[in-house]
This record gives sequence, C-alpha cells and structure tokens, in this order.
Amino acid sequence: MTQKPKAVRCLKIAEPLLFEKSRKGRSGFVVPADPFADVGDGIPAEHLRGELTGLPDVTEPEAVRHFVRLSQFNFGVDTGLYPLGSCTMKYNPKINEHVASLPGFARIHPYLPDEAVQGALALMWELERYLGEISGMAGVTLQPAAGAHGEFAGIRIIRAALEKRGDRRNKVLIPDTAHGTNPASCTLNGFSVAEVKSSDRGVLSAEQVAQVMDDDTAALMVTNPNTLGLFEEEIGKIAQVVHSRGGYMYGDGANLNALMGVSRPGDMGFDVIQFNLHKTFSTPHGGGGPGSGPVGVSAELVPFLPIPRPIKTDQGFRLRTDFPDSIGRVRAFFGNFLVMVKAYTYIRELGGEGLAQATRMAVLNANYVRALLRGLYDIPFDRICMHECVATDAGLKKQKVSNVDVAKGLIDRGFHPPTVSFPICVHGALMIEPTETETKEELERFVEALNEIRDVAMTDPDQLHLAPHNTYVSRLDEAKAARDLILTADMVGKE
Ligand SMILES: *Cc1c(COP(=O)(O)O)cnc(C)c1O
Repeated sequence: MTQKPKAVRCLKIAEPLLFEKSRKGRSGFVVPADPFADVGDGIPAEHLRGELTGLPDVTEPEAVRHFVRLSQFNFGVDTGLYPLGSCTMKYNPKINEHVASLPGFARIHPYLPDEAVQGALALMWELERYLGEISGMAGVTLQPAAGAHGEFAGIRIIRAALEKRGDRRNKVLIPDTAHGTNPASCTLNGFSVAEVKSSDRGVLSAEQVAQVMDDDTAALMVTNPNTLGLFEEEIGKIAQVVHSRGGYMYGDGANLNALMGVSRPGDMGFDVIQFNLHKTFSTPHGGGGPGSGPVGVSAELVPFLPIPRPIKTDQGFRLRTDFPDSIGRVRAFFGNFLVMVKAYTYIRELGGEGLAQATRMAVLNANYVRALLRGLYDIPFDRICMHECVATDAGLKKQKVSNVDVAKGLIDRGFHPPTVSFPICVHGALMIEPTETETKEELERFVEALNEIRDVAMTDPDQLHLAPHNTYVSRLDEAKAARDLILTADMVGKE
C-alpha cells in the first residue's frame, strides 16, 4: 500500500456535468409570457427563437454552485505559488483591475470619434513612450493581441523593410533554446528557419552565429535572457555580426521582466522586440484570457509600424493612417485596450525605480531557488541566472521518476508545477520562474516540497507515479481531450 501525502488546502466535492444535473422543466428564472407586449408589435416572428434545445435545465443555485466549484478546482496566482517558467505568472496588483474597470475606460466604444476618447488615446500614446523608454526602442505599436502575435507583426515589419530596399532574404536564424512560437512566427511570414546550437554554456557564441550568418538571412531571433534563464553574454558582438551582413536583430521580449529598469534591448543592438504586457506588466493570463503583445522598433523601422497610430497634434490626439510603408492593420480596432490600461497602471504605480526593483527581486528569487536546490536536483547550468532557473529529473531516473511525476507531486503539496520538458534542449527539464512577487518563506516551502518529493522518489516511487492524490481527478490522458473532442450536449454520456 503506497502512502498518500497529507492533504493540503483542498476540498474535494464531486461535481457532475451541468447536463447530468439537468431535470426537464427546471429553470433559473421565468420570463413573462410576452415580454414585449408594451413595445408595440415586438420582435418579428422570424427573429424569435422557438424551442431551445441542448441546454441543461437547472436552477440558479445549481448553476452558481457548479461554476464556483469548478473555479475552485482550478489553481491560480491568487491561490498559490505558480512558478511556470517562461510564463511569468506573477501576482497582479488588484488596483490594475480597478482602474481597467472604470467606466470611462471599460465602456468606451471603438467607433467613437477621436475627440470623444482623448483620455484613452493619451493613455495609449504615453504607454507607447514608456515602453519605448524601458526597452530603448524608437517607436512602439500596441496593436498585437499576444506575444506570438507581436512576433508575427515584428517579423512582418522586417520583411517589409527588406522588400522596401529590394533585398529578398529567405531565412531566419533561431537558437535551440527558442520558444516554439518563434519558428511559427517566421514560417507564417514566409521565412524558413535555421537552428543555431547554443554552446555548452547554454548561450549563443558570436563565432557560431558568424558561421551560419549569410546574405540570405533576414534576421536572428533571440530571447535575452534565453529560456534557460541565462543572459546572452555575447549579444553585443552577435548583433554586430548580424548587422554587418545586412540582417536584423529580433528580440523576443517575453523575458523583459529580467531586464526592465536595468538594461535595454535597444542598447544591446536589437532592431525589433515584442513585449508581453500580460507577463512583464502584470495582467492575469493563461486559459485564453486577453493578452497584449506590443512591438518596439528602431528609428529605421518606425515607418513600417501597423496603422492606425495615435499621434499627438496641435488639436489633441488623433489616430492616423497616413503611413504609406505601414504593414497595415494586424488587429481589429486598437488591440486589447484594457490590458494596456493595466500595464499603464502598473508602470505608473511602480515608477522607474520600482520596475528596476521588481527586476532585481525576480532575479534574486530565481537564484535563491537555484541555490536551495543545489545538491537536491541536477542543475545543468549552475551559475548566476536571471529570472528563471532550470533543474532536471536526472537524479531520479534510476527510480523511474520523471519530471512529470515531480510536477504531479507538487500539485499534491499545494503548488502549481513549473514548466516541464522545456526548453527542449534540456532533457527532463523543470523550468522554474518564481517571479518577484513571492516571499522568501514561500520559496523555501516550495523547495521543501521538492525535497520531500525527492525523498518519496527514493522510498515510494509509486506514490509519485499515481500522483496527484489530493485533486478531484488524478492523472488525465493529456492527449484524449484534443483527439476526442466532445462538443455537443447530446454526446454526453454516450462515451
Ligand atoms: C510566452 C512566450 C511567448 C509567447 O507569448 P504569448 O503571449 O503566449 O503568445 C514567446 N516567447 C517566450 C520566450 C515566451 O515566454
């Protein structure tokens, strides 16, 4: 009999599907027989829906309990430590939500004339300048709706600039530590991708880049710090190599929370970067929620930015479209405006010194976790890291315990798992990004849990193979939901 870990902060209530709770004729509210009797003829018959089928019949409390319970099965930054590497699941100050919900922001309509939304345009214009200042870029667009979308727009800008100078180039260089969205953004823009191997120090060498850089290469696309949490030490030299052959430097700025207020991608030689406002500048994300992926460019590339652009004129702020070299629109209207409001609030709240302090704390926290894990887990690049560190399951292999088992064991102990099996160049990776918003005690509890999991791996590995035990459902078939979609009510129960 294998032991179960002791229960932590969890209430297990079996919750069936809403369709299984359904009883014919039950409902949450009753609409008057003819709700439109007093508005004349009411809605024409052809626009009225007849019988509603396929929806569950439940009472209001049943519906409320159902969704509140489901929300409690979930885990979020407001529930506990969420050290999902590369994703920056930092705590989001509630003041951001408050400001974004002010009616003047939340209820404006995108078709309102410029004169009626001067405050919103001023906010966008100022946010562009803050982001430009933080990153060292000359111009910024706020339009893209996520990091990957920003990458797409940024690479499209590089393509447009090359076309403008009549220079047809076909490929983009990407290191083996890259996020999966990087090659996708290049492919969608019609470029092929060539991989650059990082050195045994886990970073790029200028020499290596020089060997593969040629006149057919449009850009080198890198994240600095990279997804191993390591600062690309030769980035200045690498930028020189790429520029000397007429290529552009694209910076995946998703890891800007390791730099902001301390150093600037523009000063490192990047020509284009994207920001992930929902990561670095604190907006709740994951689960498909709205994001925002602004793009910053060097002075040379400003004419190619998407339109419309907010411009300050003598008559106030105006959205202008008269930029003939622009790549055009990449998003309906202006992008996810309320995410911009949150990022603006966050930047104003912290100020320049506050942003730098957040960066220092993020780096300190990652290094503290790395130091505490030393001797407990294999750490392939055990030197000063930036905002995240990578451990592996190498020490647990003989017990047949994998990084995924460790992740499931963490769920039982009240923590969200770190990112597993990424970056793909590290076998059995556990990529940990504690973020600056965690206390020293919380980080120690996290490492204590990892230490306990390691002990369990040595004495009772099956406990981990069967984990998690403290959740409503245990091991899921992670591929089934994607391969066997059930989307309609009448299929429920037929499985
Ligand atoms: C998150 C992330 C992305 C993609 O950003 P999304 O907003 O999820 O599209 C790209 N690169 C890196 C390094 C990331 O961490």
